[in-house]
Amino acid sequence: MPDRSTLLRVEHLRKVYGSSTGDVEAIRDISFSMDAGQLVCIVGPSGCGKTTLLKCLAGLLRPTGGVVEMDGSPVTGPSPAMAVVFQEYGRSLFPWLTVRGNVELPLRHQKLTRAERHTLVADALAAVGLAPVAGSHPWQLSGGMQQRVAIARAIAYQPEVLIMDEPFAAVDAQTRADLEDLVRELHVSRGISVLFVTHDIDESVYLGQRVLVLSQSPTWVQEDLAIDLPPARDQITTRALPRFTELRTHVYDQIQRAKRGQVGSPPAAP
Ligand code: ADP
Repeated sequence: MPDRSTLLRVEHLRKVYGSSTGDVEAIRDISFSMDAGQLVCIVGPSGCGKTTLLKCLAGLLRPTGGVVEMDGSPVTGPSPAMAVVFQEYGRSLFPWLTVRGNVELPLRHQKLTRAERHTLVADALAAVGLAPVAGSHPWQLSGGMQQRVAIARAIAYQPEVLIMDEPFAAVDAQTRADLEDLVRELHVSRGISVLFVTHDIDESVYLGQRVLVLSQSPTWVQEDLAIDLPPARDQITTRALPRFTELRTHVYDQIQRAKRGQVGSPPAAP
């Protein structure tokens, strides 16, 4: 039985894509669980199956084997308990709607009064620092601000878990640092549970309470690493800590070994 605080449980997840040229086993065997209120990063080499894993978690793709459970119930389709923020913010926002309209849109399908909707939208925009541009259109904003709109839309929806798929890969370094701090801030101040997928090792160590290191495809969890850095983090002090360097070097080494196939064998295919 899962612990009462277990939010997400993945057990022996397997995904094989069928095609006319033969089957592709993307995920061999992934198991992990995540408690409510945690910030867990998933890192792995390119092509290792991160997107496939996220789609299975979000109920967008049916696994070949194993189970995904949210709050003890199997995920069999897109779940209102999850909100996903993708890398391509430009394609996830509607250009003809204002910032406020974009954030409000998913709430229109919920049983909320107009006043409740407006409160949630105003609160989410304030949380990401976008209240002054609520009436602007996405195309009037920088890439980093557009991604803030996508984050505001996700948190206004009040999901139980916020899933982020390489969300900052397309923005410049300074904006990325600011957005990383925004995610930490939302997690710490609001207790939001976050599952953050990235190929950036430093980002995973800076953000996470835990980092799951994935092997190369066919994928399995090579390591589930606790990040024992102080919870109050900032870009300069935290990244300068000797422990930060040790952890990022460790993860880097694991990923290099994964790429070279030096990490033992994955669990046998069922
Ligand atoms: P990542 O997000 O880590 O780059 P993906 O989940 O996109 O990895 O892909 C994992 C593996 O599954 C790769 O070998 C990829 O070629 C394969 N793959 C992904 N999507 C499909 C698909 N629709 N059909 C067949 N193979 C796929």
